[in-house]
Amino acid sequence: MSRLIVVGGGWAGCSAALAAAKKGLPVTLVERTDRLLGSGLVGGIMRNNGRFTAAEELKLMGGGDLVELTDTLSRHANLNFPGHRHAWLYDIERIEGAVIRLLKKWSVKVCYKKRAVEVELAGRRIAAIRLADGGTIKGEIFIDASGTAGPMAHCRRFGNGCSMCIFRCPSFGSRVSIAIKAGLKERMLRREDQQPGFFSGSCELEPGSLDRRLLSEVRKKGAVVLPVPPGLWPGGPGRSLLKAKVCRQYTRQEYADNLVLLDTGPIKIMAPYFSLRKLRRLDGLREAVYRDPLAGGIGNSIRFTSSIAVEADLLVPPFSNLLAAGERAGLMVGHTEAMVTGTLAGYNAWRLTRGEKPLSLPGDTACGELIAFGREVMTGPEEGREMYTLSGGTLWKNLLRKGLYSTDPAELRPRLQKAGLLSLFTHMS
Ligand SMILES: Cc1cc2nc3c(=O)[nH]c(=O)nc-3n(C[C@H](O)[C@H](O)[C@H](O)COP(=O)(O)OP(=O)(O)OC[C@H]3O[C@@H](n4cnc5c(N)ncnc54)[C@H](O)[C@@H]3O)c2cc1C
Repeated sequence: MSRLIVVGGGWAGCSAALAAAKKGLPVTLVERTDRLLGSGLVGGIMRNNGRFTAAEELKLMGGGDLVELTDTLSRHANLNFPGHRHAWLYDIERIEGAVIRLLKKWSVKVCYKKRAVEVELAGRRIAAIRLADGGTIKGEIFIDASGTAGPMAHCRRFGNGCSMCIFRCPSFGSRVSIAIKAGLKERMLRREDQQPGFFSGSCELEPGSLDRRLLSEVRKKGAVVLPVPPGLWPGGPGRSLLKAKVCRQYTRQEYADNLVLLDTGPIKIMAPYFSLRKLRRLDGLREAVYRDPLAGGIGNSIRFTSSIAVEADLLVPPFSNLLAAGERAGLMVGHTEAMVTGTLAGYNAWRLTRGEKPLSLPGDTACGELIAFGREVMTGPEEGREMYTLSGGTLWKNLLRKGLYSTDPAELRPRLQKAGLLSLFTHMS
């Protein structure tokens, strides 16, 4: 029997499983679909702004394995485009295989097409999860890393309907959170128009559907900024649509005046959705076709309708053996954010099995500030509650203001050393 059961195989779940397995804990990772990485299969941007600092901190703490994989599989490094300093773009078509191989190396048992739908409780402990196929999995510690995308009913009620995105709810069943099933209150974030949830912020185009000239420019430069004539944005001026986007670094004027194209394998466009007819009026996109979501011309998935509040060590109160990570553990957005919280959750699961107190990261690190800021947001008043990322909005401003942002590992090392965090997550030899 695995001692740790991780529900959800996005970046958060994979990081949690890996961190615990590196400490020698038998881990089962349960994923609803037939693929790992969740929204990590459609993103790709790493190391932009404060994410660079957090990525380097993770490496210094001995938990940078997945950062190193995305570095190795990057198609472009150190790109600057609106709102982004020194961004790296990993190849979203090659990353999943590399992660699967790494998890296998550390003997993580991955169960695909297994959807957790219920929990069995024993007082303030989770005793087991029940699966949609009738199976039951018992464990000692559980991690909820089920993300916040969908379910389909939310995309219908709060968005523009199912846009046939990478989450493929009609095929595999919708996301379910074991923390919510255990009775916890879900926290919804509202857009300016008071609708719950936010649209995922980007779509992907089939590379072969771009004019050759534009495709070769995006492939060569990594990022291309394409001006959008006024009136072409769906739903009126670009700015109003941007307010529906998850990521704070995109609510800038440049993203209302332009469409930013990125080379992540397919071509990522930085718009939550964009009418296909209008898109095809842009230079180089006359025959553009969406790859993800397939209906990117009318909508995208809705996220952040069901986060929960966690402790600084990522334990989910009042439970003594349930942790959470990634989007599930707050209103945080991003691959790096999921890797940081996933790694800490996996590490703390291991500590719990040894009867040790779980650890929280100090606030004078970017990783610690991420979790501390998230707790402040989640426990504060609902009005004005904002999503946060290490690369935009208030959290990014905090990193700058507190002097935590750095791209220099030599500057970060003594800070982590002082806090006793160097090599914390390194595997047991
Ligand atoms: C279109 C898009 C583009 C993005 N681009 C970027 C980017 O470029 N850079 C960046 O840093 N961030 C980006 N993000 C945000 C980032 O991808 C996420 O915030 C982060 O990866 C979330 O990881 P997660 O593991 O918490 O959740 P998810 O990625 O949502 O993973 C959750 C996993 O849990 C599974 N699951 C759910 N319920 C169950 C259940 N009951 N049983 C079993 N499995 C279950 C799901 O199938 C899924 O695989 C993007 C997001 C989207 C949607």
